Amino acid sequence: MSAFHDVQGKTVLITGASSGIGEATARLLSERGAKVLIGARRGERLRTLSQTLNAAGGEVRYRSLDVTDPADFAAFVAYAQEQFGAIDVLVNNAGVMPLSPLRALKLDEWNRMIDVNVRGVLHGIAAVLPLMEAQGHGQVVNVASLGAHYVVPTGAVYCATKFAVWAISDGLRQESDKIRVTTISPGVVESELADTITDAATAEGMKEFRRIAIGPDAIARAIAFAIAQPADVDVSEVIVRPTAGSF
Ligand code: NDP
Repeated sequence: MSAFHDVQGKTVLITGASSGIGEATARLLSERGAKVLIGARRGERLRTLSQTLNAAGGEVRYRSLDVTDPADFAAFVAYAQEQFGAIDVLVNNAGVMPLSPLRALKLDEWNRMIDVNVRGVLHGIAAVLPLMEAQGHGQVVNVASLGAHYVVPTGAVYCATKFAVWAISDGLRQESDKIRVTTISPGVVESELADTITDAATAEGMKEFRRIAIGPDAIARAIAFAIAQPADVDVSEVIVRPTAGSF
């Protein structure tokens, strides 16, 4: 059986699926026969995406989700259980990246990154871990970044959040013999991520930096690859980056 078929029939929850990597992942997994619940704050975008994918034969549900609210995340997971029964995979993809030098003192943005990128991932783990342990299987895919491996100027807080995602993923992996844990670390990818940058000089610099960006479908394929492995194989990390440049 090809890896393609091993995604088929799995129930996959994807956060941050209203654009970029999350949307591309929803499209690919749905095409490959997964049952998908997509979440993000922009419900209208989710509705349009689910309609498109269902019209093409998919089995996609959507629900608005703010990952910074643990109760909302628990309700998101409960909705998936109600719609699909078992939950096989959670893709913790939602993230924000308002880069700036520390001297700009953008405390609200630092806290926002910690809330979405770190607490959001923990809320997702908290929402699925008891049920995955009870059913004896499951997979958590956390989207980190090359920023989980390198720190760059303007990226101190963002990279810190992604170092944290890397550490949380590896800790979860070590603590469970039944749950597969995958860290996906993308390099520069086309998406709306840089739109959250409010520091003018940083935003300008990003235009050149992101010129080599690859499509979000490249990351979706890596996520699908990790999900498609047999239950006793854990792809613990994949780094996917543009061939050109170092990020
Ligand atoms: P996008 O900005 O296109 O997507 C980010 C997604 O996160 C959106 O769907 C957004 O939806 C969602 N989101 C933001 N805040 C919340 C929240 N509080 N609750 C729920 N959803 C939220 O960027 P990408 O697709 O690039 O980002 C996806 C992930 O990939 C992020 O974790 C990012 O850090 C990581 N990454 C991206 C790279 C890149 O170059 N693009 C490189 C390395 C890592 P909404 O606003 O509707 O809530």
